Amino acid sequence: MSTLKLFNIGQLVTYNTPSDSIETFFDIEVMIENSQIKEIGNGLGIADEMIDCKNNLVTPGFVDSHTHPVFIDSRDDEFLRRLGGESYESIAENGGGIVKSIQGVREATESQLIDLVKKRMDRFLKLGTTTIEAKSGYGLNMESELKSLSVLDKVQKEHAIDIVPTFMGAHSFPPNFVNREQDYVDLICNEMIPEVAKQGIAKFNDVFCEKGYFTIDQTRQILRKGLDYGLKPRLHADEFYSTGSAELAVEIQASSADHLMAISEEGIKRMGKSNVIATLLPGTTFFLGKTEYAPYQDLYDAGINVAIASDYNPGSCFIQSMPFIISLACIYLKIPLLEAIKASTYTAAKSLLLENKIGSIETGKNADIIVWGFPKIEQIASMVSHQPIDIVIKNGKPLITP
Ligand SMILES: [Zn+2]
Repeated sequence: MSTLKLFNIGQLVTYNTPSDSIETFFDIEVMIENSQIKEIGNGLGIADEMIDCKNNLVTPGFVDSHTHPVFIDSRDDEFLRRLGGESYESIAENGGGIVKSIQGVREATESQLIDLVKKRMDRFLKLGTTTIEAKSGYGLNMESELKSLSVLDKVQKEHAIDIVPTFMGAHSFPPNFVNREQDYVDLICNEMIPEVAKQGIAKFNDVFCEKGYFTIDQTRQILRKGLDYGLKPRLHADEFYSTGSAELAVEIQASSADHLMAISEEGIKRMGKSNVIATLLPGTTFFLGKTEYAPYQDLYDAGINVAIASDYNPGSCFIQSMPFIISLACIYLKIPLLEAIKASTYTAAKSLLLENKIGSIETGKNADIIVWGFPKIEQIASMVSHQPIDIVIKNGKPLITP
C-alpha cells in the first residue's frame, strides 16, 4: 500500500454527488491510497509522498469523450482550402475528407500507428486528459478497422492514460462502395461487428449519421446489430443537416448523441425526455470556420445533460487541449464556466458509462487529478492560449511534474 497526499490546495473544484453540481472547496487536502481517493478534508496526516499544491487550483482530470486519434497525417492542405473558401462538404466530395485519411491507415504498419498514437496520448495527458474515448474509422475495411482497434488496445496496455475504444467502421463509405452503399452497411453488420465483438477490442459502436454519409435506416441497422453483440451505441448526430438522428439516438437509447449543431426542435424535445447525453464539440465548429454553434442553452433548458469533448481528428478539428475546448465552450456555446467543468469531467465520464469510477474528486473514485499552475478556476477559461498544468495524477501516480 502506498499513500499520496495533496496539501495546500487553494481551490478544489469538482462535481459533487450529494449536491449533483460542481462545488468549490477552499484550503483542503486530498489523501490518495494506491490508485483511489481515500479522504478529502483537513489534517489528514502524513503520507508516503506529499505534494505541496502551493495554494493553486486542483480539478479532476479531463475525460475527453469524443476523439479520432488513429491516423497517419493531418489534412492541413484542407485547412488552407477551407480558408480559400471551399466547404468541408465540397472538399469531401472532391476526394478529401475522411476518405483521404484511409490510404494512410491502410498502408501503415501497426507499429507505425502505435508510435504515433502513443505520442498523441502523451500530449493529451500533458494537457490534463486522463481518460479518452478513441474511435477507429480511418480503415473502413475489415483488416484496417481491426488494426486501428488493435493499435488502441496495445497503446492502452503501455500507456498511463485510460483509453475507451469505439468501433466506427461507419465513419464514411470507402471509395470502392460508391453506388452500392448498402453492401458496405451489410459488411459492417455481418462481418466487422461480429469480429470486433469476438476480439473484445471495442466498448462502443458509433455511426456518422449525416446527409451524404449514413442514413437513418442504415444507422439504425448498424447500431442495433452492435447492441446484439454487446457494443453500446453512440452517434454523430445532426452535425451539418437536421436528419432526425437525435431522435434516433433516443429511440435506440444511445449513451450519447454528438455534435448537434443542426438538431431540430423535435430532437431537443425528445432528448429532453431521455437519458441520452448531448456531447457538444465546439472545437470542430471553430476549426471549420463556421459560426453556427450547437444550441447549448436550448439543450440545457430541455433538461438534457451536456458533455463537451475535443473531437480531435486529422481533418475537421486538430485540437487536443480540453482547457482550450473549455474556453471555446464558454465563449461560443455560452456555457457557464462551472457547467463546462462538469461537462468535461463528470458528464463526459457518464457518457462513457464510467461516472462511478472517474470524473470527479470524491472518496472511492480513481485518483485522476490535475494540479494547475494558478490559483483560480476562472483562469482555465480566460488564459486562452496557455493554461499551465503543474502535475497530472493518473490512478494515484503523479506523472507530469514541473
Ligand atoms: Zn467525430
